[in-house]
Amino acid sequence: MKCDRCGSTMVHEQFYGDQERFWGWRCIICGEIVDDLILENRRWLKMRVVPANDKTRVSSPGRHRNS
Ligand SMILES: [Zn+2]
Repeated sequence: MKCDRCGSTMVHEQFYGDQERFWGWRCIICGEIVDDLILENRRWLKMRVVPANDKTRVSSPGRHRNS
């Protein structure tokens, strides 16, 4: 797995969301995170097909806290 941003190695890790845990890829260099679901979506995008029932989780993972 290569990072789309910097082309470095990405590691498969388990992430913790608000309600769920999921697996994704994290770049060890720039910190880019790619959810497995995002990869699925990208596959669909390449096929130019939008799954109608796959819009529940499209935002990028991670916690954004504004203090
Ligand atoms: Zn990267």
